[in-house]
Amino acid sequence: MKNLILFGPPGSGKGTQAAKLVEKYGLLHISTGDLFRSEMSQDTPLGIEAKNFIAKGQLVPDEVTIGMLRNRVISNPDVPGYIFDGFPRNIAQCEALDELLAALNQDIHRLLMLEVADQEIITRILSRGQSSGRTDDNDPAIIQHRIDVYKSETMPVFGYYAEKGKAFKMDGIGTIQHIFEALCRSFDETT
Ligand code: ADP
Repeated sequence: MKNLILFGPPGSGKGTQAAKLVEKYGLLHISTGDLFRSEMSQDTPLGIEAKNFIAKGQLVPDEVTIGMLRNRVISNPDVPGYIFDGFPRNIAQCEALDELLAALNQDIHRLLMLEVADQEIITRILSRGQSSGRTDDNDPAIIQHRIDVYKSETMPVFGYYAEKGKAFKMDGIGTIQHIFEALCRSFDETT
C-alpha cells in the first residue's frame, strides 16, 4: 500500500487534486473536512459537536477527529492506499496516525504540500464560498483565523514528516493539470 498525505493551507486545492489522484491510482480519499460536513448534514451527535468549532474556524478536538478518522481507515482495509486530506492537522494527530498505521503494518510514504500564498488563499476561499454553502468560507475573519491556525498548529506537521525524509513542497499555483502532473511525478518516485 502507498499512503499519501496531501498537505497545504485551506483552499490550496487538496480536494481537487485528491479527486484526480483517486481516479489515477484508485486510492481511498479520506478528507476529515468532508467527513465532518457529511456528519453535520445528517445532524449526527458527532456533526453537532463539530459544528461550533468549524463555524469559528477552529480545529475540532483531537479525540473526536482521531476517532472518526480511525473508523474510516479500519472499515476500509482492502484499498491500494489512502490519501489523507486535512489530516493530520497537528502533532498529536501525526502520532495517532503513526500508531494506527503501525497497527495495520502500514506507514506514510510521502507528504506532499501544496504551497499557496495567503492572499491567493483568501481570494479562492471567498470565491468557493459563493457556491459551496460552507459557512466557514464566507467570512474573511474566519478565513484569516483558519490560516492562522494552519500556521501555528498545522505547519509543524510538515517538519514532523520532513525529519523522516518524507515531506516535499510543491507549487500550488498553476493549472490543475500541471500541479497534478507534478504530484504524480513525486508520488511515482516512492516505492
Ligand atoms: P479547509 O482545508 O478548506 O480549511 P477542510 O474541509 O479540510 O477545509 O476543513 C474544514 C474544517 O473542518 C476545519 O476548519 C476544521 O474546523 C475542521 N477539521 C477538518 N479536519 C480537521 C482535523 N484534522 N482536525 C481538527 N479539525 C479539522
